[in-house]
Amino acid sequence: MSDRQSPLIEVRKPADGRAVAAVPDTAPDETAAVVARLRSAQPEWAALGPRGRAKWLVRLQEWLFTQAEEIADVLQSETAKPRVDATVEVPFVAEVIAYYADNAARFLADDRPSAHSPAAALKTRTLAYHPYPVVGVITPWNYPFGLPGIDAVPALLAGAAVVVKPSEVTPLSALQLARGWAEIGAPPVFEVVTGGGATGAAVVDTVDFVQFTGSTRTGKAIGRACVERMIPFSLELGGKDPAIVLADADVDRAVRGVAFGGLLNAGQMCTSIERVYVEAPIYDEFVAKLSDLVTGLRQGADDREYRYDIGAMANRTQLELVCRHVDDAVRAGAEAVAGGVSDGAFFRPTVLVDVDHRMDCVTEETFGPILPVLRVADEDEAVRLANDCAYGLSASVWTRDRTRGERLARRLHAGAVNINDAHVNLFDPSLPMGGWKQSGIGARFGGAQGIRKYCRAQAITADRVPVAVSASELLWFPYSRTKARLAVAAMRALSARSLRTRFAIRTTNWSNR
Ligand code: NAD
Repeated sequence: MSDRQSPLIEVRKPADGRAVAAVPDTAPDETAAVVARLRSAQPEWAALGPRGRAKWLVRLQEWLFTQAEEIADVLQSETAKPRVDATVEVPFVAEVIAYYADNAARFLADDRPSAHSPAAALKTRTLAYHPYPVVGVITPWNYPFGLPGIDAVPALLAGAAVVVKPSEVTPLSALQLARGWAEIGAPPVFEVVTGGGATGAAVVDTVDFVQFTGSTRTGKAIGRACVERMIPFSLELGGKDPAIVLADADVDRAVRGVAFGGLLNAGQMCTSIERVYVEAPIYDEFVAKLSDLVTGLRQGADDREYRYDIGAMANRTQLELVCRHVDDAVRAGAEAVAGGVSDGAFFRPTVLVDVDHRMDCVTEETFGPILPVLRVADEDEAVRLANDCAYGLSASVWTRDRTRGERLARRLHAGAVNINDAHVNLFDPSLPMGGWKQSGIGARFGGAQGIRKYCRAQAITADRVPVAVSASELLWFPYSRTKARLAVAAMRALSARSLRTRFAIRTTNWSNR
């Protein structure tokens, strides 16, 4: 590290604007030095094997449970989350640790694919997984502890070293992870660098794999930079998730589920429900019950008090975006049947009706506590409108008929569809969490792929018996007509699916057909 003093970034509490801390705006060369340190520590970490690494992650998990209240305090100091929302991030990370610690050895074990032909059976084939030396995790401000945690855990268990670059708006929670890693005395393969976009760009310039969560705009810039360096990346981007409420739904459950799905964390969630399509027969009942529920939600700042359902907007830019979407919609003929106004940093949870697909609040990501509700004639119209969107992160379908729900789910262009629930796939580490279309590339985690993505796969072949003569040797030098004919005839006989072709009974002249 250089002795130079980095400039500082002030962190403020969104509810009242009070400064709570300042963190370094890490310069690119210092970021490169951190990555170099991690790179030199990583081989020893990889050598521990998945079980050895899992022991450290389980120790981190125990530390997290002892520090859960303090971490929630830090989370609340830099976000506008109600206490309940602030307390769920630690157990979320703990669950991901449990899942990948239990399964890492199995997921990272060598694969032995079966032979695709009798000739291939003369060889052994092994697929080995080698971790990328350093993984860069770049995260946004909405889940400042959870997102760095759930991305770092599988990467560390894969055997990579990890550098996290949290959002400059909320860097303090990720620093708690680094504190925990240091306090348990774990090997020096995990660090957090604070700073803005330039620090993030320096991470992208120096690591071997980038796991990014954030806006589609930044994601595209990062994708381009990764392609330039020819390193792999995974992008978790924006969303505009639809909910489809069918006429046979349990209306009360759908109302509560849609309210939670759209307003959790004041709607500042990638998988927030941001559009609701309701079949005409239950539209009026649904809107009346939803606006009653939403009007009754308690909003405020409740450090350690568990008093409120909804907090404030996390930052001014976000507040301004929400105001613009609502004001523009109302000017164009929409009506706010609940909320629709802000009080300082608090935007009242809002239900908008008389909205359509010409309005930004229906087509652009809002990332705020807004529920635009649209009446649809039937499920075909709902599917058409739900798919009329640049994003495809997730969706929900509300119906009493599971078969109908699952059939409809398959017609939706989204990375996940929850039936009669919201966000639930996000909290299931056995399922891939990834978006279609502008919502991203790759999947953040989920099953074996969620840890193997942090590895380079290597194919290793060997002779099954020492003197085996494989077909490929017929093609070794020196070339000869006889060997070539034999090799081609063998390959044809083994790959062709019709007996006629397999044994060259007749040669078809395709040009004369
Ligand atoms: P953002 O794209 O502005 O910033 C995200 C991170 O990228 C920050 O840490 C930022 O400092 C960094 N960054 C900015 N420019 C960079 C660059 N050129 N190179 C490298 N890093 C750079 O996003 P945000 O405003 O912090 O977060 C909100 C967005 O995140 C929303 O669009 C939301 O949908 C998305 N999000 C997606 C998911 C998901 O899983 N799909 C989850 C949460 C949030």
